[in-house]
Amino acid sequence: MQSQRLPRCAAALTLAALGGLALVAALSTGISRAANTGGNGLDFAGIDRAVAPGDDFFRYANGSWLAKTEIPPDRSSWGTAAELDELTAKRTDELIRAAASAAAGSEARRISDYYASYMDAARIEQLALAPLVPLLKKIDAITDRAGLARALGGTLRADVDILNNTKLYTENLFGLWVAQDLSDPTHYSPFLVQGGLGMPDRDYYLNPSPKMAEVRTAYQAHIAAVLSLAHIGGGQQKAKGVFELERRIAEVHVSRAESEQVLKGNNHWSAAEFAQRAPGLDWPAFFAAAGLAQQREFVVWQPGAVSGISALVASVPLETWKDYLRFHLIDSTSGYLPKAFVSEEFAFHQHVLSGTPEQQARWKRAVAETNDALGEAVGKLYVARYFPPEEKARAETMVRNLVAAFAIRIDRLAWMAPVTRGKAKAKLETLKVGVGYPDHWRDYSGLEVVRGDAFGNARRAQLFNYRSNLAKLARPIDRSEWAMNPQLVNAVNLPAMNAINFPAAYLQPPNFDPQRDPVMDYGAIGAVIGHEISHSFDDQGALFDSSGKLQNWWTKEDFAHFEAAGKRLIEQFDAYHPFPDISVNGRQTLSENIADVAGLADSLDAWRLSLHGRAAPIEAGYSAEQLFFLSYGQARRRKVREPALRQQVVTDGHAPSEYRADTVRNLDAWYDAFKVVPGQKLYLAPPDRVRIW
Ligand SMILES: [Zn+2]
Repeated sequence: MQSQRLPRCAAALTLAALGGLALVAALSTGISRAANTGGNGLDFAGIDRAVAPGDDFFRYANGSWLAKTEIPPDRSSWGTAAELDELTAKRTDELIRAAASAAAGSEARRISDYYASYMDAARIEQLALAPLVPLLKKIDAITDRAGLARALGGTLRADVDILNNTKLYTENLFGLWVAQDLSDPTHYSPFLVQGGLGMPDRDYYLNPSPKMAEVRTAYQAHIAAVLSLAHIGGGQQKAKGVFELERRIAEVHVSRAESEQVLKGNNHWSAAEFAQRAPGLDWPAFFAAAGLAQQREFVVWQPGAVSGISALVASVPLETWKDYLRFHLIDSTSGYLPKAFVSEEFAFHQHVLSGTPEQQARWKRAVAETNDALGEAVGKLYVARYFPPEEKARAETMVRNLVAAFAIRIDRLAWMAPVTRGKAKAKLETLKVGVGYPDHWRDYSGLEVVRGDAFGNARRAQLFNYRSNLAKLARPIDRSEWAMNPQLVNAVNLPAMNAINFPAAYLQPPNFDPQRDPVMDYGAIGAVIGHEISHSFDDQGALFDSSGKLQNWWTKEDFAHFEAAGKRLIEQFDAYHPFPDISVNGRQTLSENIADVAGLADSLDAWRLSLHGRAAPIEAGYSAEQLFFLSYGQARRRKVREPALRQQVVTDGHAPSEYRADTVRNLDAWYDAFKVVPGQKLYLAPPDRVRIW
């Protein structure tokens, strides 16, 4: 239930269903442009003209902004996306508060009750440990390995997402992702993913650097503190045992970079096979407790980790496992417990791991939690107020232009054989692009929300989400389902579904602004649209055919060419060193880096096509191409605290923003626009510039 990291993506006055009070509030924060765009649609004052674009494009586009910007104390980073996130959270908060007067039993009232229960800190304080007691008693009552397996099975949730949101982390022993089967895309399959670590990645347990050793010491102290807050005796000793168990789990985990390799992950195991392939855990008991007793087949994403973890379930003392379960139960639900728990959770997970000095205000956390639990219901309110049909239509036009430009790019790839080209075009034609919000909304009527029971509401919401996912196993594939909420400042490609979601909250200034020349929109949101389209053709996406089946549709020569280009991009990113002791992992970030280069090139083409012979604009002395690239560089502006940046480099599929901005160095047009010459730091000789699509 901790807030999740973001994955790999205004308003006319539609005031339906809002009361007068909400109207006043909405007007006060609502319809202005985002603060950092000047009158001309870019932050020209944020540019540092003392930096040569060819030496450091990110600092050229953002240097003055970087120099004067302080990261807010409740954030681990700040920039364009965070600013929009903050604005959207405020708007969402107002919409939820306005829903308080909705009729009992209505969806709006369910949202309001969920939020209000979380906000009621006095009630939570008064309940103290009461919500935990029955759950801790269940753990106390475990007497054998079958009981342990049932308890572990009971923690399984739909809390990972391998290919869409690329969320590969769960602190539960395993995570489940229900998605289109990769070998037979006519049905859904359950994907089992490694988990069980309280820290973000195996590297936090195994990396010998002094920085990581410090974090490990802090984590052990955190485990002891959490147990002691719940009045569980012997915390120090127990913390040692729990930590050591997790360290052993980390040893059998595979790395993030390896987990991203689809061909290594697509392993089908029958339910009966688990006992031989991964002995130790009582699998029938585990699956029965997880509601999966009837499931005949699974996809085991990291077989080595599943076997290794299963063996530990048999060999590590039962009492250690019980301490492990107690700790994780409390740690993962701390947000719904009294302040002492909330503060301890913050001190480790946000302060130590991300460097954030101050906890977010309660209302911000309440909005995030409500979005987690009832995301599309909240999204329905959001788009009715903040995403007018004109903006949806304008975004759809832009998407069509990007798709058309991508088709032309495919036609022009000199190295690609006609047969491969035909299949790439077929894939582009079946791409399903969703703009703003889904065609069909999720139904939350089965979720029980009890006013005054924040803890129970959160548990029920997770279980509701899990069961909704299990129910998909018996249903046909639904390509209209979304993987993000409309009120999220982000976008996503669903590679196996060959679909894209562009949430409404991403489609607002300064990403997408009806009041400025479109060239700046193409540099900002256009490059993101191109990025998401390109994910269908990145190193992972390119493995799926137009039906979503994992099968190689390339000629051997074409695929070798594609892989060689990817290899050069890996080398380019491996050479970036955000810290002396740590470099960017070019392999781990390859999909995103391919999507960035291809998306940027696609968007530039699409903008040129959209001119239809009109003159290109000049603004504040900048040419149209300069405006395009500056807009790209400013959309990626971000200042990050050191621990958070370290965490990103280790665990994220995205390279740090500054290197993503510098990927302009792969486009010839950037050299022309800024007169970049040999000898400048970002200069690449033409053969070294990576052109993948
Ligand atoms: Zn991406």
